[in-house]
Amino acid sequence: MTTISQLATINGEAGIPGPADFPAQERLRDSFGRAITDLRVSITDRCNYKCVYCRTGNEGAQFTELPIESYLHMVRLFVSLGIEKIRLTGGEPLLRKGLVDIVRELSTMRTAYLPDGSPDSVGRTLDIALTTNGHLLEDLAQPLKDAGLSRVTVSMDAVDPETFTAITRVPRSFDRVQAGIRRAQEIGLGPVKVNCVLLRGFNDHQIESFAEFSRNEGVIVRFIEFMPLEEDRSWRPETVVPMDELVARLNAFRPLVELPPNAASETARRFTFDDGLGEIGIIAPVSRPFCGHCSRVRLTSDGKIRTCLFSQSDHDLYGRLLRGGTDETLRAYIRSIVIRKEARHHIGEAGFQKPSRNMVHIGG
Ligand code: SAM
Repeated sequence: MTTISQLATINGEAGIPGPADFPAQERLRDSFGRAITDLRVSITDRCNYKCVYCRTGNEGAQFTELPIESYLHMVRLFVSLGIEKIRLTGGEPLLRKGLVDIVRELSTMRTAYLPDGSPDSVGRTLDIALTTNGHLLEDLAQPLKDAGLSRVTVSMDAVDPETFTAITRVPRSFDRVQAGIRRAQEIGLGPVKVNCVLLRGFNDHQIESFAEFSRNEGVIVRFIEFMPLEEDRSWRPETVVPMDELVARLNAFRPLVELPPNAASETARRFTFDDGLGEIGIIAPVSRPFCGHCSRVRLTSDGKIRTCLFSQSDHDLYGRLLRGGTDETLRAYIRSIVIRKEARHHIGEAGFQKPSRNMVHIGG
């Protein structure tokens, strides 16, 4: 077995191995043996919200966006290597012209490997998901569903209009997002997942209201611990509401009952309440890291591969495509990058280094 340090010295271009260094038939894995099955693709760096914990409010898009066919070309390469789930994100993906066409094309792609890792000549449809702030979802939900979207996750950090506007810095945004969620539920894009990043002193008074929201609207509410990925370097450990504290709050509201995970790589711990009504997920990358099960890589809006949210650098797949790289050499390049995926993040440790990009410019 070739080690990572060997890889760095074997080949030409900056230690990048050539096609012969990886068995063509093997599915995408990193050096820790983690199968990489999920790809998150940012299709625009633009966003129509300026959430206080994410963006400074003064800066717009910082990175370019690519022709749709280029994203599809790169996604096809990843799928041929073992990717089974695609999540479209941004920026705000609903701002991207041609989004429906992207989803339609993705729905024609087929997985390349069976669950046991052996090559599959028939293939299954991809799991195609979307993460959005929901502002434009009411009108786009049906066309997206018709094009083949499997499910949608809506980011919504408050369930009262005032707090919501204070966070997004966009007036009258709450009603639009709620209408988008309801439309998605009605047309069968559900159960919709509603993601809430909890920030102490900002929206943690909403925890119980979110539990009610899940029970009343039939959506899965997922609380996410705040990570140091913001533009303006405002992250403090004290701002994070850790999982144990959150569980205690929810239990006081109504007793929680834990649900089994849907998959080993699932990031959320799942709960319902003692009457079976409502579903709450808790994603705790800070207090309970789940890097050991990570199955994700990311492609940024400008076509760079990122192997971890907290990577210190990204890898220019699009540049190689643009310079005429063949599918064979591009696949080898992807493998050579993924094999070097980081073991884990180092949030909260001495010497933690901020990643080279912020969440909005990576694609969450
Ligand atoms: N605009 C889309 C949206 O709002 O869902 C997609 C991009 S947004 C960057 C993706 C997700 O990242 C959102 O759910 C957002 O709340 C989350 N996010 C942004 N900054 C974060 C941070 N510092 N820690 C945890 N989650 C964060």
